[in-house]
Amino acid sequence: MSCSPDAIKDLLFGALEAAEASRVKEHMQQCAGCREEFDRLQFTQTALHALRDEEPPRRIAFVSDRVFEPRWWQRLWHSGPQLGFASAALLAAAITIHAFVRPVPEVAAVPDPAAIEARIMAEVSRRIEPAVRAAVAEAEARQKEKADEILAAARREFQAQREADRLMLSTLAEEFTLLQKRYNVLQLASADLGVLR
Ligand SMILES: [Zn+2]
Repeated sequence: MSCSPDAIKDLLFGALEAAEASRVKEHMQQCAGCREEFDRLQFTQTALHALRDEEPPRRIAFVSDRVFEPRWWQRLWHSGPQLGFASAALLAAAITIHAFVRPVPEVAAVPDPAAIEARIMAEVSRRIEPAVRAAVAEAEARQKEKADEILAAARREFQAQREADRLMLSTLAEEFTLLQKRYNVLQLASADLGVLR
């Protein structure tokens, strides 16, 4: 194998198949230039690792891209026959652009699985916690709305009851007045007849 800076980077990023990786390593044992390049990249990467502590989302995206599935362009590349010439050219352009605009934090070694899991858990809780809080708040709001509704209904019920009571009372009062009038009339009539004397 001849010198290949790309292969060295891929080795560093853990993007090579085992066979290809050992071919590159074999080459590096005989090639001081590539060995140096590898060491230099590794040093840079370690330094970057030590520096970057922020932005978990981007790191997570990167981690899931690299560890759990092949690189997006590898997947595209291996879908080979379906790609027409135009899309292949487009892909080549995309890869080139991607290589240029790729943010620095994406250049990282295969992270240790425990660290990945910790990061994922941190990211999950970072995303889930607000969602749960929002859901709880919504449920509480709904609960309060319901309580308010029940209260309003009870108030309406009470109001209606009071209205009914008032109506009944006035009816009773009217009836009582009527009875009293009748009684008076009766009393007058009996007085006239001399019955109650
Ligand atoms: Zn070399």
